[in-house]
Amino acid sequence: MANARCSCGALTLTLPDKPSAVIACHCIECQRRTGAPFGTGAFYPAEAVTISGTAKQYTRDAASGGKVHSHFCPNCGSSVYWKAENLPSMIGVALGALTDASQFPAPAKSIFEQSKHRWVQIDEVGEHFQQGSVAQSR
Ligand SMILES: [Zn+2]
Ligand SMILES: [Zn+2]
Repeated sequence: MANARCSCGALTLTLPDKPSAVIACHCIECQRRTGAPFGTGAFYPAEAVTISGTAKQYTRDAASGGKVHSHFCPNCGSSVYWKAENLPSMIGVALGALTDASQFPAPAKSIFEQSKHRWVQIDEVGEHFQQGSVAQSR
């Protein structure tokens, strides 16, 4: 089992060994959420994820329609996981919250590159998209 946690450790997730998908997102909202030049999410089936601790929720509109519910630790503020209404069966986990980076797969998709910092270059990305990978591709 893999694990993810916030900075202070009050909010932890127990996850299956392998994520269903890993996606790097360069949208402005992911940049704001993470404070980093892009966000990377590992997606898991919601029923396979065990959440311990209390998260606070922030809801915003998704670029692809619907809402995204972002969950963060109320104590340390780390962004740990999110749920998108468009993808109700999955939980996205912030890659930075994962505790074992050594064997983690590279993102299969890099999305919203229209707002990517020009110097950001991710090796091993499979597919590149200017916007979202589902609604409007390339
Ligand atoms: Zn915390
Ligand atoms: Zn994004």
